[in-house]
Amino acid sequence: RSCLDRIDKVDGEVGAFITLDREGALEQARKADIERKRERVGTLCGIPVAIKDLLCTKDMRTTCGSQMLADFIPPYDATVVEKIKGQGGVILGKVSMDEFAMGSTSESCAFGVPQNPWKKGYVAGGSSGGSAAAVSAGECLASLGSDTGGSIRQPASLCGVIGMKPTYGRVSRYGLVAFASSLDQVGPLCRDVTDCAILMNAISGHDQRDSTSVRIDVPDFTSFLKEDVRGLRIGVPREYFSAGLHPQVERVVRSGIDLLRQAGAVVVDITLPHTEYCVAAYYLIAPAEASSNLARYDGVNFGRRDMKADTLMSMYKDTRSAGFGTEVKRRILIGTYALSSGYYDAYYKKASQVRTMILRDFQAAYESCDVLVSPVTPTPAWKQGENSDNPLAVYLSDILTISANLAGIPGISVPGGFSSDGLPIGIQIQGRHFDEGSLLRVAYALE
Ligand code: GLN
Repeated sequence: RSCLDRIDKVDGEVGAFITLDREGALEQARKADIERKRERVGTLCGIPVAIKDLLCTKDMRTTCGSQMLADFIPPYDATVVEKIKGQGGVILGKVSMDEFAMGSTSESCAFGVPQNPWKKGYVAGGSSGGSAAAVSAGECLASLGSDTGGSIRQPASLCGVIGMKPTYGRVSRYGLVAFASSLDQVGPLCRDVTDCAILMNAISGHDQRDSTSVRIDVPDFTSFLKEDVRGLRIGVPREYFSAGLHPQVERVVRSGIDLLRQAGAVVVDITLPHTEYCVAAYYLIAPAEASSNLARYDGVNFGRRDMKADTLMSMYKDTRSAGFGTEVKRRILIGTYALSSGYYDAYYKKASQVRTMILRDFQAAYESCDVLVSPVTPTPAWKQGENSDNPLAVYLSDILTISANLAGIPGISVPGGFSSDGLPIGIQIQGRHFDEGSLLRVAYALE
């Protein structure tokens, strides 16, 4: 009730929610009250959680921020949603995002754009902007987002909350509307690191319905919160502090690194030489996979269908013309081009080779350090509408987050400080595959 009251009070301004399930949430909360009296209680019993609107929720509209799925009501829950419910969590509703998770500001959402709760008129980040804004504004205690190229870490950083992208394969993608399947990963956005560990415990683990989820032990993530960082080797990737980095972002991240040094961590200088190719590789691979994944929205099986067309071809064309927004169309065009015969070797294959080199950069780095500490984004949040006619500038702002997705490694954004005009700035910690524990350990020390 307290979250619903808060939503009533602030969401008119924040604009995080697309669908609010008031009655359903109260019903789940009542069940939690009964469950609470039993001996064995779920770890999320009665905890209100918001879900990014690209995770399927049974009998609850799942729009993916797109007109294409405006009326889509899934007949099943995504595995992560099922797991949250299984632990007694209360699903409040679905939150705003860039259309099909393509973007960095959530401004391409067809159903309302979230604001940065820290400053009116500023972006909440994206694509999980609604997930970050809802937690930051106190409308829920935690949320789920997805991260294909930074979409959990970047909005978390811009809104001053914790956001973790787990290792690729750690969390099931079953029931997640696919954007770029080899990069997508679901993860939590929370108010503190302890909540993040609890959420990670709830959502992690192998799922036979997702062939890319990995059969590997899930540790108790809260166990890492007791450790300190003494002796831990913190790598500082020099390419992440290059020209273009906002001086206030650099100040916040450097003071975070100093804090870790004072706490006994060993700070080492690291190089990730292929960083400059990340954006180019990502913006070929992600659109290529998206163009293939989004072929299913043809007006036949899912969502919207143009009813006026008189031939099959014009039905496809009119459905997709009206159903998809500008950015989604741009990605489909880039992706289709990159995959077309004659260009495949020059673009998609080349980008995949570069991806391997980026992975090797990380593997080499982790020989001399345990985690990497860096900025999350080159700048704090910017004004809404500022870059709307310059997609390339927005793509370039992803430079510090997308390499983790290309390499499949985990990353977390933890609040580090503020810019002089009061906007939050996050610190990013990246680690080895399946070593989310070390990320939580460092994040806990920085909190
Ligand atoms: N900003 C990136 C993009 O537009 C990342 C999106 C994401 O992680 N879903 O593709």
